[in-house]
Formats: sequence, C-alpha cells, structure tokens
Amino acid sequence: MSRFLSKRFSEIEAYVPGEQPQDKKYIKLNTNESPFPPSEKSKVRLDDAQLSAVKLYPDPECAALRDKLAEFYGLTRERVIVSNGSDEVLSFVFMAFFDKDKPVVFPDISYGFYKVFAELYGVPYTEIPLEEDFSIDCQKYFGIGKNIVIANPNAPTGIEISQADIERMLKTNPNNIVVIDEAYVDFGGTSALPLLEKYDNLIVVQTFSKSRSGAGLRLGYAMSSPEIIADLNKMRYSTNPYNINRLTLAFGEAIVDDNGYYEENCRRIRSIRENTTQRLKKLGFCTTDSKANFIFARHPKLSGEKLYLALKDMGILVRHFNKPKIQDWLRITVGTEEEMDALCAALEKCERS
Ligand SMILES: *Cc1c(COP(=O)(O)O)cnc(C)c1O
Repeated sequence: MSRFLSKRFSEIEAYVPGEQPQDKKYIKLNTNESPFPPSEKSKVRLDDAQLSAVKLYPDPECAALRDKLAEFYGLTRERVIVSNGSDEVLSFVFMAFFDKDKPVVFPDISYGFYKVFAELYGVPYTEIPLEEDFSIDCQKYFGIGKNIVIANPNAPTGIEISQADIERMLKTNPNNIVVIDEAYVDFGGTSALPLLEKYDNLIVVQTFSKSRSGAGLRLGYAMSSPEIIADLNKMRYSTNPYNINRLTLAFGEAIVDDNGYYEENCRRIRSIRENTTQRLKKLGFCTTDSKANFIFARHPKLSGEKLYLALKDMGILVRHFNKPKIQDWLRITVGTEEEMDALCAALEKCERS
C-alpha cells in the first residue's frame, strides 16, 4: 500500500477472483464459465469495417442491445440497463441506493462481492447466517426493513429459494430494495422477472458470463422499474458512460439472437450436473441440491484443501473457499462430459490414496 491511498480504502479487502492461470492448461472447473464456446452464428466476424469502427465511441445508450433484451423478456427498453459484467451493475446498485441510513443484508455465505461493495461504499451491512443445511430461511428477511441482496440460486451452494418467498420479501419491505442476482437462473431456476409488474422495489440482475458463454465479453444487465433503471444509468454516466465496448455490444446482440443454442447448452449442463452428482455420491460425497452450473460437494473423510490441492496437481482446477463453515466443501463447475469423466477418475484416485 502506498502512503497516498485514501484512508477510506485502506481497510478494504478486495474481492479475490477465482484463479485464471496462464501457465499451464488445466481442466478449468473453478469459475463457473460455460464449457461450450459461443455458437458459430453468434461469433462476431471482425471484418475491416468493424475493426475500423473502434475509432468511434460506442453507443452510450446501448439502445440496440437493450431493445433486444427487452423484447426477449417482454419488457421495454426503459426497464433494462446493460453493464460491464453484472459485477458492475451490482456495484451501481450499492452506489445508488445503499448508504449509512439505508443498510443492506445478505446471507453470510453468498457471492463474495456483496461484502466488498458494501465496504467500498461505506454501507453498513449484516450477514444473515444460512441454516445448517445451507438453505436460506426467508422468514429472517420478511419485514426486516433493510435492503436485501440475494443470489438465486445462491452461490456457492446452488440452492434456490421460492418465488413465493421472494414475493413476501418484496411485499413486507416496500420501502427497501430487493436485489435478486440471477447469474445462474438459466440452469433450472425460476426467474423473479414476472414480479417486476407488481413490485417497484425489485431489481433482477443477470449476466452473459455463465449460461451464454460470454464471461470474456464482460456483459451483464439488470431489469427493474424505469425509475430505478434511470438512477442506475445516472451512476453509469457519472463513472464511465462508454463502459461497454463496440465489439461486446455487437457480440451480445448476436448471442440474444441465437438464444436456442444457449438454451440447449443449459439443458445439456443440467443433465451433466445430475449425472455427475450421482457419480460423486457413489464416491461418498455429500452435495447440495444445486440448480446452478456447479456442484457443491464435500467428502466426509478428505479435507477441502487437500482435495483441492490434489486435483490441482492432477491438472483439474476447482474452487475452494478457505472460510468458516465451508472450508471442507468444493465448488465444482459443470464441464463437458469428458471433463467430468476426468474429474471423477481423479477423485477416485484421491479416495484410494
Ligand atoms: C459470476 C457471478 C456474477 C458476476 O458475473 P459477471 O461476470 O460480472 O457478469 C454475479 N453474481 C454471481 C452470484 C455470480 O456467480
């Protein structure tokens, strides 16, 4: 740390992203990317005109992509904002709506960025413990009188809460915002989107990073009331109005156009998830009921850290969180059939040794 860093940031612990090793080729099951490439149809052909166009700023309104997403979800453009990854729009939400008079709550085990954003923006926060079985007891959020951020399905557990519970959170906290982070909803979850019509305090956040094979594009979006979207756009325009580059905008539009391909991939990932879960259970693992593109698993005899290191040694990268309550669990991204075969073979080896 330099002696110049502002005091308000000196205590902050930055988010630690999953490893993106550049040294050797791993079977990469640690950051929940899609194992499948974008479709041929949605790959943007970078012809000379497209490349030359980068001399011009992109459309700060992102009108074409917002219109496509709006049409896809049956909304209007005013209800959609796009961002540089959904991390960015989550950051705008914390920036715009939460402060010391408007604190926020989220589960103690969830997406690590919520806590980082709360600290970055000086927002008081409460982490509400998950139940023993890692489920969220929604009762604890009803009428709580604070802003709420929930990943649904939750990460890294993959466990989903019901729409009825989300509706009750919205209804019993009418003067607070409820953010539902649906990064994993396309893998078998249910979206809270239909509740937008009835509740003006709901923000639904989604991303191209997981189900749409676009983690490297950095493209996310949120859907809410036109007023909330206008406030979020104010944050964009006050920080970086050209936050989404031309190539990403073009790619994003093409991906929405070819949605069938990505839906098929999601079906395939769900089926690989179910199949791999059964195989892990046969190897003695406990798992949660994941509705996401990852499996959260623990072996009763082998420690999380040991397993993580042994797998890494064998060229397979999974996510291990060195955190109380979950240090013996691994979050394993669902890969291709072949990658899951390699994973199961490696785990069998760990068990035997
Ligand atoms: C991956 C993830 C995100 C962020 O993804 P982006 O790549 O920034 O769109 C947000 N929330 C959760 C729960 C995630 O797992």
